[in-house]
Amino acid sequence: MKKIYKRSFVRNDKKNILLFGYKKHTEQAEKELAISADSKPHMRWHPFRNEWITYSPGRKNRTAFPSKKYCPLCPSKKIQYPTEIPFKKFEIAVFPNRWASFNFHKKNFKLKKIRTKISKGSSEVIIYSDKHNETIADMSIERLELLVYTWIDRYRELLKVKDIKYVMPFENRGKECGVTLHHPHGQIYAYPFIPPVIQNEEKIFNKKNYLGEIMQELDKKYWVYKNDDMIAAVPPFARYSYEVWIIPRKKVAGPWNFNDKQIKSYARSLKKVVKGYDLFLGKKCPYIMGLHAAPQLNNNKFHFHTEFYPPLRSKNRPKILAGSESMAGTFVMDVVPEDSARILRKFMR
Ligand SMILES: [Zn+2]
Repeated sequence: MKKIYKRSFVRNDKKNILLFGYKKHTEQAEKELAISADSKPHMRWHPFRNEWITYSPGRKNRTAFPSKKYCPLCPSKKIQYPTEIPFKKFEIAVFPNRWASFNFHKKNFKLKKIRTKISKGSSEVIIYSDKHNETIADMSIERLELLVYTWIDRYRELLKVKDIKYVMPFENRGKECGVTLHHPHGQIYAYPFIPPVIQNEEKIFNKKNYLGEIMQELDKKYWVYKNDDMIAAVPPFARYSYEVWIIPRKKVAGPWNFNDKQIKSYARSLKKVVKGYDLFLGKKCPYIMGLHAAPQLNNNKFHFHTEFYPPLRSKNRPKILAGSESMAGTFVMDVVPEDSARILRKFMR
């Protein structure tokens, strides 16, 4: 494994920007963004859905940026405005979101008859590259490996923090998925509870490794890309027409248990899937991507996997979570996963 450098730069608001790279980052900082008021998110319990909802009212006041050319995730270079990253160059950068959905603070919000809690935890932004137009489809395998090592670092660090119960790196891509900043980036949420979807997965994995059980079927009928260590497949129970999961052939709790070869295979799978989506659609494909790892570093039941949901019903029709999906939680599909896999395979293999 190549040596990876990590630099912690203390921002003017005393929070850290982390810079990860194969080269040591020693550059002196340029002018920083003005300090913004910390968000103080709180949660409310939804008694009918049995889940927490987090409220971060400050988020609607997110900075309106001065000009279209101005990207707050680009390195502060020739632009006259300071950006989130006060340097000329970087490889991968992680910083706390100024409009956090989860944040450590002390101000609870009290309401009669409604259960509330402070939204403890953290919301980090992770910038994949200092190039404005580079996406996972265009990045080198080395850069994607660095991305995986960065995720691993965040899992290890954040899961050590008291009150943090779950860490999830994810990415929303494209305006269809609500993205306002096009510079390639993802987010890492650290939750003060295990989110319901993961709680359910954990319950299943504690009983048996269902992903291990269907591996042969995935390998035969559902795969869209595969290598020695990973299978990317449309799950036989997909809820989106072109849903894809990247699943390690051998069970690991999270990417922190990968060896270097598995990291490379995983990086390659990420690239194949995203590039394949773009080839299939003939444009940058919108998607929501999330890493489903175990809640604990030392879990030995959970089978890590990465899920991609492109919001598409068919190639040219958007999938909207409508009546049945939103109101009843029941997805209605018009394509079977076997067929989707056959279509996508041409573009991803
Ligand atoms: Zn940019």
